[in-house]
Amino acid sequence: MSRVWNFSAGPAALPEEVLRQAREEMLDWHGVGCSVMEMSHRGKEFTGIIEQAEADLRELMAIPPGYEVLFLQGGATLQFAQVPMNLLAGRSADYIVTGSWSKKAFSEARRVAASPGTVRCAATTEASNFTRLPVADEIRLDPFAAYLHLCTNETIHGVEISAERIADTGVPLVADMSSHILSRPVAVEKFGLIYAGAQKNIGPSGLTLVIVHRDLLGMAPLAIPSVMDYAVMAEHGSLLNTPPTYGIYVAGLVFQWLKRQGGLEGIAAVNAEKGRILYGCIDASAGFYANPVDPDCRSLMNVPFTLADPRLDAGFLAEAKAAGLVSLKGHKSVGGMRASIYNAVSLQGVQVLVDFMNDFAKRNG
Ligand SMILES: *Cc1c(COP(=O)(O)O)cnc(C)c1O
Repeated sequence: MSRVWNFSAGPAALPEEVLRQAREEMLDWHGVGCSVMEMSHRGKEFTGIIEQAEADLRELMAIPPGYEVLFLQGGATLQFAQVPMNLLAGRSADYIVTGSWSKKAFSEARRVAASPGTVRCAATTEASNFTRLPVADEIRLDPFAAYLHLCTNETIHGVEISAERIADTGVPLVADMSSHILSRPVAVEKFGLIYAGAQKNIGPSGLTLVIVHRDLLGMAPLAIPSVMDYAVMAEHGSLLNTPPTYGIYVAGLVFQWLKRQGGLEGIAAVNAEKGRILYGCIDASAGFYANPVDPDCRSLMNVPFTLADPRLDAGFLAEAKAAGLVSLKGHKSVGGMRASIYNAVSLQGVQVLVDFMNDFAKRNG
C-alpha cells in the first residue's frame, strides 16, 4: 500500500493515525461487536462518542461556557442560508466579501432574506481580485446590523484573516471558518457564531460544526424547518433526528489526535513552519512561481500559486503526480496551482513538495 502526499482542498487529507484507528475499530468498536455506523444514535455507546467529541473540541478551542456546540448537516453552504434564516429576524446584516466563499454566503443570504436589500455588502475586495483584505476606511458598517459575516479563510483565493486583526464592532460576528478551524488558537469569545464544514480540517464530509452563543438562539421565525433552527438543535443536543454518526466519530478521533499534537498551539507551530517553507520557496524562485496575495494576509492553509509560464502547468502537474504529490491543480476560477496544507498534511509532506518545486524550477527555469 502506498499513500500519496495529498494537497486536496476538500474533502482533504486526514491524519493517517486516525484512518488506521478507524480501520482498527471498523468491524467491532470497543468490543460491542459492530461498527459505529451500525449503532443507534440514542444508545449509550454513541452518546459517549458525541459527548467526548464535544468535550475534546471545547477543550481544544477553549470554548467558553455560554456557547452551544452543534453537529449538523448540509455543509457550510447550508449555513449560508441557515445563518440569515435564524439571525436576521426582520433586521439587516453586513457582509465583508474577501473571496469566492464570502461572496457565495452574501448571495445566498440575499436569496433567503425577506427583502434582499437588508443584506448589505459592507466591503468587498473583488476589484483587487481578492488578493488582500479591506482596510478600515473601506468598510461601511451598520451599527444596527443583526450580525456581521466574514469568511476568515478564503479557501480558493488563499486569503486569511487572523483573529488578532478582528476588532470588536459592537455587533455579533459570524465567521465561516471551514478551511482553517483548528489550525491555530482562536478567541471564540469574539464571535457570536462560528461554522465550518468538516471536510477540510475536521473529518469526513457530511458533518457541519456550528459553535453559537446562547444569546443568538431562539430568534428564528417558526416557519423554518426544525432541523434548521439552532435553538431546536441545541435543545436536542444535535439529536433531534439522526446525525451523521460516523462523521462525528471520525471528527472525535481527529480531536484526540490534535490533543496529542499539543493542541492548537502545537499544531499552529507546525502550520507556521509549513507556511514559512512553502511561501519561502515561492518567494525565492525569482519569479518562476508567484503567489498574488498580500503577504499580510496569506493563508497558512491554502496556498495558490502560478507558474510564470502557464505552458509548464500540465508538465508540473504530471511530474508532481508521478512523484506522489496530488491534487495541486488550482481552482478553475483562479487557475494555476493550489497546495492545501491542512493540519493532516505533515511538515514532511510540505518539504517533499518544496523539494519537488525547487527541482522543477531548476530544470525548467
Ligand atoms: C469548502 C468551503 C465551503 C463549502 O462547504 P460545503 O461543505 O461544500 O458546503 C464554504 N466555505 C468555505 C470557506 C469553504 O472552504
